[in-house]
Amino acid sequence: MARKRIALWGATGSIGLQTLDVMSQHEDLFELKVITAHSGAESLYDIARKWRPALAVLTGDVDRTHWRSRFHDIGVNLLFGRQGLLDAAAYDAADLVVNALVGAVGLEATVTALEANRPIALANKEVLVMAGELIMGMAAKRNLSILPIDSEHSALFQCLVGERAESVEKLILTASGGPFRETAKEDLAGVTVEQALAHPNWSMGRKVTIDSATLLNKGLEVIEARWLFGVGPDQIEVVVHPQSIVHSMILFIDGSVKAQLGEPDMRIPIAYALGFPHRLGGSFRRMDWSDTFALNFEPPDLHKFPALALAFDALKTGGTAPAVLNAADEIAVEAFIRGQIKFTDISRYIEMALHEFAKSGAVDLPAILEIDRDVRVWLNRHLEMGR
Ligand code: NAD
Ligand code: MG
Repeated sequence: MARKRIALWGATGSIGLQTLDVMSQHEDLFELKVITAHSGAESLYDIARKWRPALAVLTGDVDRTHWRSRFHDIGVNLLFGRQGLLDAAAYDAADLVVNALVGAVGLEATVTALEANRPIALANKEVLVMAGELIMGMAAKRNLSILPIDSEHSALFQCLVGERAESVEKLILTASGGPFRETAKEDLAGVTVEQALAHPNWSMGRKVTIDSATLLNKGLEVIEARWLFGVGPDQIEVVVHPQSIVHSMILFIDGSVKAQLGEPDMRIPIAYALGFPHRLGGSFRRMDWSDTFALNFEPPDLHKFPALALAFDALKTGGTAPAVLNAADEIAVEAFIRGQIKFTDISRYIEMALHEFAKSGAVDLPAILEIDRDVRVWLNRHLEMGR
């Protein structure tokens, strides 16, 4: 494999740090050119000191004079704010952008990187939820890959190697079911932030962990899969699989099913995206076949977890609906983490926002960014009044 120059957005997050772990197991294959973070200036600095990228970006509110001089002392150019991220996205000395940002903030930068002809390894699923058609269209026009990092989509991608699109009948996304799989529906209103953050199988950033508890994460992934793999909404099914060993499956038109399995270790899908089309060896978790174990599958309970049903609805509505769903979820999840609303309010607010804002029909980037802003303003105002 030829040496790859990497731009890593969201370097200090869960996916960002695991990407660095994979890269450090293959220092001869990768060079880190760009890193970004929001507020964790100290940890971005530690990464910069070790990897000496050309460019670093801090998007959050930080002491600019202090950090500019500290990064300058180690020979790293530091940019700031939203514009800094967009400038870094256009940086042309990178062969692959790893977008490990969380939320809608990654959308404009992704568009900028595609305009600059950069292929993208994507963890930041919100980008495809908001603007999947637009992003995939841009990538196709420029012949650029969007390589999935999300474990389910990496599994599907791996299962598709050597297959033809017309052979696919259904994509079957597995979901762990989250920490409340066995909690009674009546008890969900009273669950705490700590309980919601205690994911049974994966250790991840807070937003995706809460999304996993409401099952909206699976809904976002359904939308992500629809665009990544160009299938219709009716060709995607969700099955709960509590062990998170089967990362997703494909049903082909002859009734054959292919699955990708492995221990829940995000470094495996990250390594697949970084190395593609080569597989990278590494000290990632291995399955242990010397012990007896069982794998279970069950249908998701859409009454208990209405957020998943709302995501399927939003996908069918199309237009601005998925962007509305995403924006409302981001605000509601933050409010839940702050202790301002109940767990069950998250899906309630998403539903309200969809009623208020979702419109079908064609959308362009300005329309998506506008609806994203409008939903945030509306929901924040609503939450303020509810205090
Ligand atoms: P995280 O919260 O751990 O990290 C997010 C990163 O983005 C950090 O570097 C942070 O500094 C940066 N960031 C946060 N807010 C920002 C803002 N407003 N502007 C610019 N940068 C900002 O998140 P994560 O768990 O690593 O998840 C990243 C993405 O990957 C999410 O879309 C998530 O759904 C997806 N994903 C994560 C996992 C996982 O195991 N963590 C698995 C599958 C998919
Ligand atoms: Mg996933």
